[in-house]
Amino acid sequence: MNLYDRLITPSDRPCFLLPDGRQITYAQLADGAARMAALLIAKGVVPGDRVAAQTQKSPDAVMLYLAALKAGAVYLPLNTAYTASEVDYFLTDAEPRLFVQDAAAFAAEAAACAPLAASVPRDDADLASIIYTSGTTGRSKGAMLTHGALHANATALHQAWGFSGDDVLLHALPIFHVHGLFVALHCAFLSSAPMVWLARFEDAPVLAGLAKSTVMMGVPTFYVRLLANPGFTREAAAHMRLFISGSAPLLESTFAEFEQRTGQSILERYGMSEAVIITSNPLHGDRIAGSVGYPLPGVELRIEGGAEVGVIEIKGPSVFSGYWRMPDKTAEDFTPDGFFRTGDVGRQDEDGRVWISGRAKDLIISGGYNVYPKEIELILDELPGVTESAVIGLPHPDFGEAVAAVVIGQGDEAAMIAAAREKLAAFKAPKRIFFVEDLPRNAMGKVQKNLLRQTYGETFTAGT
Ligand code: AMP
Repeated sequence: MNLYDRLITPSDRPCFLLPDGRQITYAQLADGAARMAALLIAKGVVPGDRVAAQTQKSPDAVMLYLAALKAGAVYLPLNTAYTASEVDYFLTDAEPRLFVQDAAAFAAEAAACAPLAASVPRDDADLASIIYTSGTTGRSKGAMLTHGALHANATALHQAWGFSGDDVLLHALPIFHVHGLFVALHCAFLSSAPMVWLARFEDAPVLAGLAKSTVMMGVPTFYVRLLANPGFTREAAAHMRLFISGSAPLLESTFAEFEQRTGQSILERYGMSEAVIITSNPLHGDRIAGSVGYPLPGVELRIEGGAEVGVIEIKGPSVFSGYWRMPDKTAEDFTPDGFFRTGDVGRQDEDGRVWISGRAKDLIISGGYNVYPKEIELILDELPGVTESAVIGLPHPDFGEAVAAVVIGQGDEAAMIAAAREKLAAFKAPKRIFFVEDLPRNAMGKVQKNLLRQTYGETFTAGT
């Protein structure tokens, strides 16, 4: 069955609650999507064709996504920050039939079309979307997600997080990434729940929105920003039943401060473009800071080679079906028995909870020893004067790589290195600490360690 029909039930229930007080109902959403689907077909889109979109966040942009599903096309969202030459790469690689940049203009043109009555039939195995990974190293890869995979993940999350028609979702995430596009929208759609619809995260509208909402999904930086605002109080959060965080690691200090401020604990979950959501802390039961919780029902999770700590491998109904036009890369990233090598390093404790220690490519090998940045970051984060730290490996003439840290905060470098050294073996302790006001992050709040490695790359090699 077409994912569209599994997600959308036309009704007079509000779908979008807009900042100017206007509402758009589920019936209007369905009507807009059906007209746009008709226009897509009129423009020559046939099942399996890619429809690319680099659009500002708006209800029209959501209708375009749904229209692509309904018309049997494969939706390809692109980050609004991409430059023309970056977009060129995606368009050349994905060869879309159509590239939409102005969703409002497309909606206006579609208004003249008769709504497409029945969705183009699609099976679970048919492609629904291609999501290009942020690609911090090498070429960006297009993860192919099917109607079946997206549906399986949506229903699992809807249940795991207890969504119902009584919920109101605060939506302040971008919709070019799986988090805002699939995780958030699909959970709301499955309950025909309204969404407080914000184009981006801004303190005042988010605080006002919390008073009307029951669930918020955010990246960790949203929570950091809320906590920095004195207006974010226990009362301001009192209407909310659930705060969810993902797309980047949530600092334990953020989790603790949030709990202290609001009396509520943030539910952290773990996911990626290639599998949408993989693990989640429980709705009922303890949410533990630093752990991303349990594998979702139906997800098999193991550590590569049966090691205690290592690359996390997963298998399950929401795992992608490969990288677009990259059969060799796809083959490389799946094990012979069908598990996807996530590239994230972690462990699973005896209770089944999963703990992520970072990306495999961020692992530091110093003097032949493996150093996991997370272990050092946790220690640095505890030191006075440090708000957040990012530990990286930098080329070093003797050790191959040496451990260095870039920290938000202030302090005496030598004293801080000495303090870290008390808790860490010499090969793990940072050899240099750089103090900064902020760390470079991508749109989802992930620290871009590749940029840090570039910036500080010659620290130990200059002059050798
Ligand atoms: P993306 O495909 O852009 O969504 O990035 C996925 C990556 O984000 C994962 O492979 C993880 O490295 C990271 N990630 C997502 N959620 C979490 C989390 N809760 N904790 C730590 N890392 C996370």
